[in-house]
Amino acid sequence: MNDERSLRELELLGVARLYGLASTGASAVSSPAATQVEEATAAVAPAVAGASWDALREMVAACRACGLCKQRKQAVFGVGALSGPWLFVGEGPGADEDEQGEPFVGQAGRLLDNMLAAIGCERGRDTYIANVVKCRPPGNRTPTAEESAACAPFLDRQIELVAPRLIVALGKTAVIRLLGTDASVASLRRKVHRYRGIPVVVTYHPAYLLRSLTEKAKAWEDLLFARRTLREFAADSLIITP
Ligand code: URA
Repeated sequence: MNDERSLRELELLGVARLYGLASTGASAVSSPAATQVEEATAAVAPAVAGASWDALREMVAACRACGLCKQRKQAVFGVGALSGPWLFVGEGPGADEDEQGEPFVGQAGRLLDNMLAAIGCERGRDTYIANVVKCRPPGNRTPTAEESAACAPFLDRQIELVAPRLIVALGKTAVIRLLGTDASVASLRRKVHRYRGIPVVVTYHPAYLLRSLTEKAKAWEDLLFARRTLREFAADSLIITP
């Protein structure tokens, strides 16, 4: 990991803590940028809470809470089954997604579709796909902490509406946003984490897998683990206690 990347991850973690998402209990990072984000997020949060799918989609399309809106062709909302059971969370749109308005439609998206097929899932049938940020970061850089935080109410509401049985966090940005930890993806794999009570399984981001073919086998293991976890939780919820 280079220094710039790790600095961004630490910033992101600071904002995750700021919003009470971190589990470590460490104190929040307080900076003028974080304060601005806090204000912007507080302003939008009441309208987002309780929004319908249509209203939420319109809010995302019109959002100007952070600088990413300046260069986007369009905001990329999310796609798929509106009521779970699977939710996959990526990082943010790339050039193809910015062009087409749908998450994961480029090369990484094709890999994600293959990964889904391998566990018997299909985009749109039983799976919802969303990103931490809805607008493309220029040059496909990692979103900043402020950008992720500005989009947090939107992702939170998507999660509430989908009410998934299981979330798969794809890569570090999703991990930081959902779990509030800067622990490595490698160390978080094959464990069940929680986001607001919903089981979360962690795996590598498909774009990383395109560059690191040796990790593909690990992602396959992770998805099998995720499928087992979902089945176990589904079976548990069917147990009727006298
Ligand atoms: N990478 C992501 O994280 N999301 C997309 O939608 C595309 C690539």
